[in-house]
Amino acid sequence: METQLSTTPIRIFDTTLRDGEQSPGVSLTVDDKIEIARQLSLLGVDTIEAGFPSSSEGEKKVIKSIVKAKLEPEICGLSRANKGDVDAAIDCNVDAVHVFIPTSPVQMKYAVNMTPEQVISAAADSVAYVKKHGLTCEFSPMDASRSELPFLKEVCKAAQDAGMDRLNVPDTVGIMTPKTMATLIEDLKTVVTVPVSVHCHDDFGMAVANSLAAVEAGATQVHCTVNGLGERAGNASLEEVVVALHMLCNCTTGVNLKLLYSTSRMVSALSGIAVQANKAIVGENAFAHESGIHTRGVTEKPLTFEPIAPELVGRTRKLVAGKLAGTRGIKAELEEIGIHPTDEQLKEIVQRVKELGDKGKMVTDADLLALTSAVLGEVIGEEKIVDLCDLAVMTGVKVLPTASVRLVLDGKEYVAAETGVGPVDAVLKSIQSLTNNLEKIRLKEYRLEAITGGSNAVAEVVIKVEDDKGNVVSARAAREDIVMASVEAMINGINKCLIKNRKQGTTK
Ligand code: MN
Repeated sequence: METQLSTTPIRIFDTTLRDGEQSPGVSLTVDDKIEIARQLSLLGVDTIEAGFPSSSEGEKKVIKSIVKAKLEPEICGLSRANKGDVDAAIDCNVDAVHVFIPTSPVQMKYAVNMTPEQVISAAADSVAYVKKHGLTCEFSPMDASRSELPFLKEVCKAAQDAGMDRLNVPDTVGIMTPKTMATLIEDLKTVVTVPVSVHCHDDFGMAVANSLAAVEAGATQVHCTVNGLGERAGNASLEEVVVALHMLCNCTTGVNLKLLYSTSRMVSALSGIAVQANKAIVGENAFAHESGIHTRGVTEKPLTFEPIAPELVGRTRKLVAGKLAGTRGIKAELEEIGIHPTDEQLKEIVQRVKELGDKGKMVTDADLLALTSAVLGEVIGEEKIVDLCDLAVMTGVKVLPTASVRLVLDGKEYVAAETGVGPVDAVLKSIQSLTNNLEKIRLKEYRLEAITGGSNAVAEVVIKVEDDKGNVVSARAAREDIVMASVEAMINGINKCLIKNRKQGTTK
């Protein structure tokens, strides 16, 4: 088993554009899908399931344009087990057709109203029809994990006799455990000789664990989606599956791990589904350390508290100042931007950071610099690479919220105007459209907190911005005018991000 695992590369079948797009609330445009497909190709997945051709004419168009992009991975279309669906897939010029049909009693009866005999013949006929057209055929007995094993085996044999190239085993409603999944794969391998794949859902939070168990039991392909998008709780997350296969299971895949983070960011931005902060590999906190013991450990020797080197997956370590922060972490954080306080000053800075943290406040990077400036008695990090000259915002009942902004960037004046869903959105977009000339800096998080009641309340805005290299900088501003608080926080954050970037000597 060990030698087989280490020598057979595991195929990564990405279904972000099919199952992932079926996530509630996700709807990708044609351009979004092509952009994601290109990124998946760069990332190095083996198959891209581009969509479900028979679902609409629009869907067919998207799949056709992905096929036309002539990407490296195999392009696959999903198809029910009928001639019309397979024809729709063939019409898109895909390399492979993924045929599925329910095999569990509950789905045969209530989802398609077919008898077991009808299911077997529809499966065999459809697989044979795909093969007659010379395409690769992957077959899925849908809801395999809730199917009766003798019948499931019968369907798989029939599909194999009809020429299927790969058997995919879907845990459609995510009810398996690693143990039951391993047993199911082993059982099916007694009748199936073609490569076996697995498709897991995360209803009980076990999609990745079940996928790994399937691989350990002999599956050589895993279905996954970027950020774990997909129906309900989603599918097995690609980044977690791939990193675990490489680092914990002694397997290889064709995926370039260094592109995992940028791929995750792209899919999150285009799908509109945020990645939770504590998500493995790609979550904001996955490589962040705040507590003193941890920051001391990782700055001394990363292996102490980092099982995965951040660079391996295209990320950087983040030390966070906060109430648990230690001297070592804050020192490292300040040194990164060229500030070298004395031991005495450092003690004072740490003290003040903890005081702020104890008040229940998140200590932003800008706060840390402000506290440091106060302690050192000199102005630091106040260089204004970006400064606001002028701002006008228009909003109303029948008016598209529009903002125009005049900024000084590196001493030169620029003007931009943008529209948005509201005045804050419009103004932040205008600022970003200008600062993009200096460095691609994106708004990563925006939080608004009203501190006092009433319509004249002081609004506190906390923002996080991120540059291309994954440097994340936070800043805050409090004003009675929400738009102005947002602008001030944003410009503050962008300045700190640029300063950090330039101090690192990495600005282009
Ligand atoms: Mn699914």
